[in-house]
Amino acid sequence: MQIFENTETAFKIRTNKELRKASILFSLMSYPLLVRLSGKLANLAIHLKIPVRWIVKPTIFSHFCGGETIEESRNLIDRLSKFNVESVLDYAAEIQESDDQTESVIHEIRRTMDLARETTSVPFSVFKPTAIAPVRFLTAAAESAVPSFLESDPEKSAASFRESDTEKLRQNIRTLCQAAYERRIPVMIDAEESHYQDIFDSLVMEMMQLYNKEKAIVFNTIQMYRHDRLDFLRDCIRIAREKKYHLGLKLVRGAYMEQERERALKMGYPSPIYPDKQSTDNAFNSAIAICLENIDRIDLFAGTHNEESLLLLMNLMKSRKLQKNDPRVYVSQLYGMSDHISFNMAAHSYNVAKYLPYGPVRYLIPYLIRRAEENKSVTGQAGRELHFVKLEISRRKNIKNKK
Ligand SMILES: Cc1cc2nc3c(=O)[nH]c(=O)nc-3n(C[C@H](O)[C@H](O)[C@H](O)COP(=O)(O)OP(=O)(O)OC[C@H]3O[C@@H](n4cnc5c(N)ncnc54)[C@H](O)[C@@H]3O)c2cc1C
Repeated sequence: MQIFENTETAFKIRTNKELRKASILFSLMSYPLLVRLSGKLANLAIHLKIPVRWIVKPTIFSHFCGGETIEESRNLIDRLSKFNVESVLDYAAEIQESDDQTESVIHEIRRTMDLARETTSVPFSVFKPTAIAPVRFLTAAAESAVPSFLESDPEKSAASFRESDTEKLRQNIRTLCQAAYERRIPVMIDAEESHYQDIFDSLVMEMMQLYNKEKAIVFNTIQMYRHDRLDFLRDCIRIAREKKYHLGLKLVRGAYMEQERERALKMGYPSPIYPDKQSTDNAFNSAIAICLENIDRIDLFAGTHNEESLLLLMNLMKSRKLQKNDPRVYVSQLYGMSDHISFNMAAHSYNVAKYLPYGPVRYLIPYLIRRAEENKSVTGQAGRELHFVKLEISRRKNIKNKK
C-alpha cells in the first residue's frame, strides 16, 4: 500500500540509535514465550515491590511512552508536531485502590486538559473511566455474573450497583466533561471490559446530551470486536439525531479479547466478542462507513493500526468529497507503533494524533504488557514494524555508503 511505504518519511523523527533500539525490541517481541515470561516477571516484580524502573524505563518504556510526567512528555509532543503529528496525552492510571486516589487521577487529567488548551498540537484529552470509578462500584461490576447488555432483565443487572456508587461515578465523569467543556478541549472516554461498559456508555451518552449541543466535546469509545456494537452505533446515531447533539466517537477494535473470552467461559455466559478476526474487521470497516455517512452528526476518531481500514477510510473520504484534513475526522495510532502509517498520513495532510501514554513506570506496566502481547506474533504487528524499521536502517546505510 503505497501511501504507507515511504520509510524516510515514516522514521524522520527517529535517530539511528532509536531505530536500532526499535529493531531489537520488535525482534525480541516476536518470541511469544519470552513475552509471556517477561509479562509474568514484571507483574510479580510489581507485586513484590522489586524495583524495575532502571530496566524498563530506558528500554520498552521509552519506546512506547511519552515520559513519567507531563513536563517530561512535552519535548516529544514538540518533536512530533514538527511533522504535523499531534498528540493525545494519555495518563496511564488504571484501577485505583482508594477513592482518594481517584481524586488525584481527576486532578492529573485536568492538568492534561490545561496543557491541551495551551498547546495547539494536543487536540484532545482522554481518560479511562475505571481510573475514576469508586472502588465499590468496580468490585460490584467484577462480581456481577453477566454483562448487562447480555442480561435478559437489565433491571436485575443494574441492581447490582449501589445508587450512591453510580452517582459518585456520574459526578466524577461529569467533573471531567465539564472541565473539558470549559476549556473547549474534546475529551475521549476509553472503553474497557464489557462488564463495566454498559453503565459507562449510558453515563457518557448523558454527558454528550449536556455538552455536545454546539460541537462534539465528549467522545465515547466503541469496541467493534463486540458483536452487539453495530446495533449500538446505529442507536447512538438515532438518539443523537433525535436529541439534536453531536456524537463524538472513537472507533477501535478492542484490547481485552482474551480476558473477555476467559471471563465468559468461567462465568458461563456467551462471549461478547466475535468468533474470528474477519468478523471484527468487517464490523470495524462497516462502522467507519456508517460514521462517514453520518458525518453531519459525528466527529470520528479512528484508533487503528490496520492499513486496510485506513485505506477504506481515505477512499470513503475522497468519494464523499471530504477534505483530507476535515476537522471532523482524525486517525490515531499508539506512540511507538505504526509510524509508517502516522507520519505518511500526516505528510499527506490527514489529521493524525499519536496516543501518548505517560505516568510513573509502575502505572505503565499493564499497558506495556498489552503492547508486547499485541506485538508478539511474527506474522502480525511486530513483523510489520520490524520490516519497516529494517528497510529504513538499510536505506540509511546505503545513502551513507554512497557518500
Ligand atoms: C488511538 C488508539 C486508542 C485506543 N483506545 C482503546 C480503548 O479505549 N479501548 C480498547 O479496548 N482498545 C483501545 N485501543 C486498542 C485497540 O482496541 C486494538 O487493540 C489495537 O489497536 C489493535 O487493533 P487494530 O485496529 O490496530 O488492528 P489489527 O491489528 O488489525 O486488529 C487486532 C485486533 O483485532 C481483534 N481480533 C484479533 N483476533 C481476533 C479474533 N480471533 N476474533 C475476534 N477479534 C479479533 C482484536 O480487537 C485485536 O486487538 C486503542 C488503539 C488506538 C490506536
